[in-house]
Amino acid sequence: MIEVEAVTKRYGSICALDNVSFTVPDGQIVGLLGPNGAGKTTLVKIATLLTRMDSGSCRLNGMDVLRQPDAIRKIIGVVPQTTNLDRELTVYENLLVYGKLHKVRKLKEQIERAMQGVDIWERRDAVAGNLSGGLQRRLLLARVLLSEPEIIFLDEPSIGLDPQIRQQLWNIIRGMRRAGRTVFMTTHYIQEAEALCDCVGILLKGHLITIGTPEALRASAGGQVVDYFDSAGALQHQICHTRAEASELAHQRGPAASIRDTNLEDVFLALTHERMS
Ligand code: ATP
Repeated sequence: MIEVEAVTKRYGSICALDNVSFTVPDGQIVGLLGPNGAGKTTLVKIATLLTRMDSGSCRLNGMDVLRQPDAIRKIIGVVPQTTNLDRELTVYENLLVYGKLHKVRKLKEQIERAMQGVDIWERRDAVAGNLSGGLQRRLLLARVLLSEPEIIFLDEPSIGLDPQIRQQLWNIIRGMRRAGRTVFMTTHYIQEAEALCDCVGILLKGHLITIGTPEALRASAGGQVVDYFDSAGALQHQICHTRAEASELAHQRGPAASIRDTNLEDVFLALTHERMS
């Protein structure tokens, strides 16, 4: 379980996180969405001991990040935004070195299991620096799985990957959930949050403006959207709370208007636009 309570973090005059609170139950994938500079990475850094919050508390599986850092290190795995592999070493050697550094028990068995978990066993002798971006990401995931963490933090895991490779990565992340792990991820891809996450939070300028299941977020914004062209010919979207409201609006907007179900992107755009205007 991840329990974040009233977390605030400032960098000089910038308030990166302002009184952020939420709870994520065990075994879920939670995704944090937000524009650049919203505070997503700062939250991951606080939870993974890379930076200290100014106030508030963060507990992972009941342990406090400030008071029990050694115990926290034993239960978390972190995949940062940047690919920090040893580019000169092979896939296997990368895992061996990391496993030894982290005193992973039964290391050879664990390496084999982790490699098979992300389907990279066939490439074990390839030099990491020569791998494609997608394979490097898979190696990073194998590395994090070596120590069998209870909670895994993924900072923008699929950034820069093509749609097919992204799907493979999603399946690996779903496998982490099936294995009972809790996954906390940040992403800019709303489709990724919709496809993977049991719970989605939206951060904006350090404020958590909403958090809940994708279904709950869609329902609270309004279940239907009318797409129509305005008088300048620009495509517009308007969220409606009822089918009757949507039908009436579509009728007013003319024959080119159409009605569809609300998606997470509509919710994201509506909430962030509301708060920024
Ligand atoms: P992105 O999507 O671009 O990665 P983010 O949502 O992860 O952004 P953060 O990296 O957490 O956002 O940054 C939140 C705010 O804190 C930004 O205004 C950023 O410039 C600022 N910030 C982050 N790290 C530092 C730092 N070490 N020193 C000063 N300011 C920082």
